[in-house]
Amino acid sequence: LLGQMMDVPLNVSTLLAHAARYAASTEIVSRRLEGDIHRYTYRDCERRAKQLAQALLRLGVEQGDRIGTLAWNGYRHLEAYYGTTGFGAVCHTINPRLFPEQIVYIINHADDRYVLFDTTFAPLVATLAPRCPNVKGWIALAADADIPAIDAPLLGYETLVGAQDGDYDWPVLDERLASYLCYTSGTTGHPKGALYSHRSVYLHAMGAALPDAMGFSAHDSVLPVVPMFHVNAWGIPHGAPLAGSKLVLPGKDLDGKSLFELMEAERVTFSAGVPTVWMSLLAHVKSLGARFSSLERTIIGGSCCPPSMLEAFEDEYGVRVIHAWGMTEMSPLGTLARLNWEQSQRPVEERRRLLQKQGTVICGIDMKIVGQDGRELPRDGVAFGDLHVRGPWVIDRYFSSDESPLVDGWFPTGDVATIDPDGFLQITDRSKDVIKSGGEWISSTELENVAVSHPEVAEAACVACHHPKWDERPLLVVVKRPGATLTREALLAFYEGKVAKWWIPDDVVFVDELPHTATGKLLKLKLREMFRDHVLP
Ligand code: ADP
Repeated sequence: LLGQMMDVPLNVSTLLAHAARYAASTEIVSRRLEGDIHRYTYRDCERRAKQLAQALLRLGVEQGDRIGTLAWNGYRHLEAYYGTTGFGAVCHTINPRLFPEQIVYIINHADDRYVLFDTTFAPLVATLAPRCPNVKGWIALAADADIPAIDAPLLGYETLVGAQDGDYDWPVLDERLASYLCYTSGTTGHPKGALYSHRSVYLHAMGAALPDAMGFSAHDSVLPVVPMFHVNAWGIPHGAPLAGSKLVLPGKDLDGKSLFELMEAERVTFSAGVPTVWMSLLAHVKSLGARFSSLERTIIGGSCCPPSMLEAFEDEYGVRVIHAWGMTEMSPLGTLARLNWEQSQRPVEERRRLLQKQGTVICGIDMKIVGQDGRELPRDGVAFGDLHVRGPWVIDRYFSSDESPLVDGWFPTGDVATIDPDGFLQITDRSKDVIKSGGEWISSTELENVAVSHPEVAEAACVACHHPKWDERPLLVVVKRPGATLTREALLAFYEGKVAKWWIPDDVVFVDELPHTATGKLLKLKLREMFRDHVLP
């Protein structure tokens, strides 16, 4: 017996249409490349998104065509999100921090028709254009007067959009149609594309908006530091209009000073970003001796949030940290660390221990850990194994690939984790990064967290080194804070009593900087190559 309810497709455009009607005068504030602060409302945003849709249709863009974006967080990029997906084209956000060869590969693999770009990326576009022959035009997100002269088939965004009247109704699309295309950063091999549907983006936005997930509200002023070119800024451009939250888009300046000024000026209540961003923000606020006057909570994810950062935010500034885990292949949100009533009554150390983990799944996502033999491992917080997930916003396959990555219907994340009796996930490693000492696994993440909790350590990475007896042993590679006098012996002594004795790294190497991926994660592969044959004492 079928249910007898309306079959209204879940379309991305309806999120903005809702905000344009019910949060019509709520602001979207952007720090522009032009140097000023731009302000307009959801109503204005929808009108301009419709103008963009009209312009792209005039240019001959069809449903299913991919439109690339190379842009910072700003109102024009937001218009591009909705002005493409709204009529059935696919918004392909491109990470400009990737190597140009990777970007060329991605644009050609995605077969982008047009690419919209912020003018800061004009030199990049000049090198990309000759190598991306199928791109019909490069649309500069600017007024004609601000478009740099480069050798590429150029169009001006403001001229294109300005020529349309915005009198356009979003079509009702099959919710299974593609909406966004996001590539992973490809730490191993070529980047791979995750092709989201309208349905998956909509459901992800609903999940993200739940009170114990990101918890968007019409009272919030939300500043996504996480870029809109990285996994749709974790879904904030969809969750904010869904709830009618004010949006504050920081543009290209993501240093502590610029962010703090914007947060204070726009009364930001809620922000989100990777740990490295918060390091510079905290350092800046500390140097001023200032306080956050409106910031209530911040989502930290993308890589492990060091416990010392969580404590600094909460103890010194009263800002709640929500540690989150996800990945491009899951749109990206999987888990967030929030306590239920009973957990929040436990002693403070126990609460902290839970909040430092990556948290519990959003309803809709299912997860399990499996051992080498593929069998599910107990949720005891001790056993660690390969993390598998499934759910309506998890990929089924990669873009343009017939091969299924799934194992028995589950997506293998490539992460290694524990799940405890409270259901809290703790990532211990990427599967490639675990250190296997005498057949037992050592978590590199945990060893890194101890290192960065030392006041003289700026950044640390732990990698496996070859060992004649134990096969692999942990080596710690450390960047000291300026002026630090820390020695190898002192740092190793710092581990005593904090981890099992046999986990304590065998050696420490001090370096000036650590290699990072385009999204700011430690490039462990490179470090392993550099230190594979390091002679342990
Ligand atoms: P990439 O393009 O680098 O794969 P993703 O954002 O998709 O970028 O990266 C996902 C991976 O990042 C996860 O599989 C996990 O290894 C790591 N990650 C994300 N959030 C966390 C977290 N809170 N703690 C530890 N690792 C994390």
